[in-house]
Amino acid sequence: MRYYLDYNASAPMSEEVKAYIVSVLEKIGNPSSIHNSGRVAKKILEDSRFNIANFINCKPDNIIFTSGATEANNLALNGFQKKIISSIEHESIRNQQNVININVDKDGYLDLEMLVNVLKKVKDKKKSIISVMYANNETGIIQPIEKIKKIANKYNILFHTDAVQAAGRVNIDFSGLGIDMLTLSSHKLGGPLGAGALVISSKKIIRPMFFGGQQEDSIRSGTEPLLCIAGFGEAVKYINKKKINDVNKLRMYFENKLKKTNLGINIIGEKSKRLPNTIMIYVPKVKADTLLIALDLEGFDVSTGSACSSGKVEPSSVLIEMGFDKKVASSSIRLSLGQNNTVEDADKFTTALTKILKRVKNG
Ligand code: PMP
Repeated sequence: MRYYLDYNASAPMSEEVKAYIVSVLEKIGNPSSIHNSGRVAKKILEDSRFNIANFINCKPDNIIFTSGATEANNLALNGFQKKIISSIEHESIRNQQNVININVDKDGYLDLEMLVNVLKKVKDKKKSIISVMYANNETGIIQPIEKIKKIANKYNILFHTDAVQAAGRVNIDFSGLGIDMLTLSSHKLGGPLGAGALVISSKKIIRPMFFGGQQEDSIRSGTEPLLCIAGFGEAVKYINKKKINDVNKLRMYFENKLKKTNLGINIIGEKSKRLPNTIMIYVPKVKADTLLIALDLEGFDVSTGSACSSGKVEPSSVLIEMGFDKKVASSSIRLSLGQNNTVEDADKFTTALTKILKRVKNG
């Protein structure tokens, strides 16, 4: 029996999404071909675009499909001379060149005063951009996006947000917020891996990275991965308020259960505004990688939040940036829930964790 508690890494596909992808497998056309088969493929592509536009309240034309959020983030920032970012961004933003980092406070929120001070000094605002994630992938802490947008407006500078973890967990209103660019990832929403989108308010603000067959309004050339995009658009149809509320209730149950164990567990950002599905816990006296392996052996898939693609576990840089010491940053794990999780998972997890910690304590 496996218990999957790692939805922020990748959310499983529902039977409905799988069935839809299988039906698309029967189709043979290239969406750019003008014959009938091509038009059928094009319709699948545009249906997906329409569903995603509905999901985040924008026009279908605002959506540019990419291979994932990493590409979408790179596309968003491409060509800007200065990138003003939070210090807790995903690596696809953090590892860019010419970044100016804005700190976060102990509650995980962006230091708005520092942002304003930096913006006052930025000379060429037309060649600069702010990029701050909607919600953090490790802690689930939600940034004050509306306030950041207001500041961006005041200083007349573009604003991009990586909404990969927020989408499907909080309501996102692209048009209402007036954001310039927003990133989505299919596989965090119950769609297949290998698709994402950059949502743009205007074509004028974007500089393409790929040149070729002029797909996606010439912004992202290359034949679209139709199966992945179809699944992406299908997955968002099944996200609704009720499911999100259920996950939120489960998270609260989970957290209460963990706190009652008397194992000294701390919930990171407990008082902060957080995603309904994400729990980052500090478990004293045991290293995150040891805990991850022990939990894996007990049947639980969890994450250290910052395992890189090589699988190496580093202290969480997000927690370090929030001002936690290395001890906490090295002993924290992330549980991220989704619609398949149950109260039983929380009960079983707490029992397994208690057993593991007893074993660790007794050497
Ligand atoms: N941004 C955030 C906040 C993420 O959590 C991730 C995935 N870990 C990405 C970007 C990259 O997404 P993708 O896997 O679609 O490239």
